[in-house]
Amino acid sequence: MEKMVIGISTSFSAAHSIPGHYKCGKIHGHNFKVEVEIAGEVKEDGMVMDFFDLKKVVDEVISKFDHALINEIIEIPTSENICVHVYNELKKRGLNVVRVRVAENDDKWAEIRL
Ligand SMILES: [Zn+2]
Repeated sequence: MEKMVIGISTSFSAAHSIPGHYKCGKIHGHNFKVEVEIAGEVKEDGMVMDFFDLKKVVDEVISKFDHALINEIIEIPTSENICVHVYNELKKRGLNVVRVRVAENDDKWAEIRL
């Protein structure tokens, strides 16, 4: 069977402040975009994993951030730290994650790439 990478994107709206940062130290919000890719073999059903199932798992992981103050969950809630958090939570759920991107704007993001 062919090895392949599949991905989904989703988003959440949240507030955060970056402690000690001259600009981002004030509480402000973003519509964060999250992209996740997993790798695997194409199975008999023609899929690596059902997109709907993948999106459901990712949405479960990020649901706690939606309309929340991320500082209450992650001490220093940079895009980098949110990315690490999402990556670790997806690995815990047994997904063969090869890329996680968390973007706080169209022109700013953090990414783990394996
Ligand atoms: Zn920010």
